[in-house]
Amino acid sequence: MSRSLRASPPTGASPDRYAPWTQRLDAIGEAGQTRSLRQLKQTSPTTAEIDGREVIIACSNDYLGLAFGSEAPSLKHPPGSTGSRLISGHRPAHEALEDALSDLYGRPALTFASGYHANLAVFSSVCQQGDLIASDALNHASIIDGLRLSRAERAIVAHAKPSAIPDTARLVAVEGLFSMDGDIPPLTEYPSHPWLAVDEAHAFGCLGPQGRGAAASFGLEPDILIGTFGKACGASGAFVVGPKALIDLLINSGRSFIYSTAPSPASTMAALIGLQRTIAADEARAKLAHNARSLRAGLLNRGWEVLGDAHILPVVVGADAVPLATRLWERGVFAPAIRYPTVALGAERIRLTVSAAHTDTEIERILDAFGDANEARS
Ligand code: PMP
Repeated sequence: MSRSLRASPPTGASPDRYAPWTQRLDAIGEAGQTRSLRQLKQTSPTTAEIDGREVIIACSNDYLGLAFGSEAPSLKHPPGSTGSRLISGHRPAHEALEDALSDLYGRPALTFASGYHANLAVFSSVCQQGDLIASDALNHASIIDGLRLSRAERAIVAHAKPSAIPDTARLVAVEGLFSMDGDIPPLTEYPSHPWLAVDEAHAFGCLGPQGRGAAASFGLEPDILIGTFGKACGASGAFVVGPKALIDLLINSGRSFIYSTAPSPASTMAALIGLQRTIAADEARAKLAHNARSLRAGLLNRGWEVLGDAHILPVVVGADAVPLATRLWERGVFAPAIRYPTVALGAERIRLTVSAAHTDTEIERILDAFGDANEARS
């Protein structure tokens, strides 16, 4: 019976109707892990008003400063795609975006509504029962969830350690620039026999020639490359690049591709415009690297330990992460604590991200806030 044919839920329902949900929420609260939404009114590429306070944003993935709307050309494309790509949703915008990606990488490409969709399709499709997939211990939740949907066996391997890959692995899954530790794995040292899948979500647009990613910065072409438009490109959506057999397999067996409404022509055109601006953004890439170096050096000077190799700068402080985030907030810097289960217990952190759009003054203000917080700490 369809849901709508059932008797409507009693309006004066017993107070226990949703008790299983509130009990779970209570448990999350008791563990100090409640999450809630915070509305952000963006006022410039790097500033926002939150709860009436003007703050510098130090936690966004808008690495090249392309997401703040005012410079985006107006979009004259329909807001809806009306169906999945395989039914009524495949439009000229999708082909234009995929052609632009194929020109960039020299291989076929397929676009998705999000990186989460792309990773579900890739990691649930490319291996089968009987295969072994080696997955880096710090891989993103979307890779983990894709692997869970696969019938293959999984081995969680030590972070960024190619020597830990089992000889029998059919596929290795890593990130080009790890989202929470900010480090780049030694991609050239990974064994060549298994297929290599690199999620370039945080590296795409920022690293390598034309911003093609961490693998390209090593002159490497992974079997499977995943990139997103929601970070450096300042839009939303994602793509997979690889051999034609991979793209055809995803069209035929990627459930998050087949059974989901195609991204709207409007958002696809926004992604295409973001892609074109990203490819041309050499100056912004240089500024991003400069800002990352300044922030890292300044934090180290002020006595903070910082992880990472590029524009993601995690400051791991464990249980102090929430109070530190509050102190930064009071000094006009928005960088919330990243907590369990996103990172391991004891490894809670402030995940600082820089943008090419941050001015030198804003970088100084972020550093001043950390300097003050350090004094309050000692
Ligand atoms: N992969 C990685 C490494 C990510 O960090 C993210 C998002 N933070 C995704 C995939 C998912 O991308 P999207 O936000 O487009 O769903």
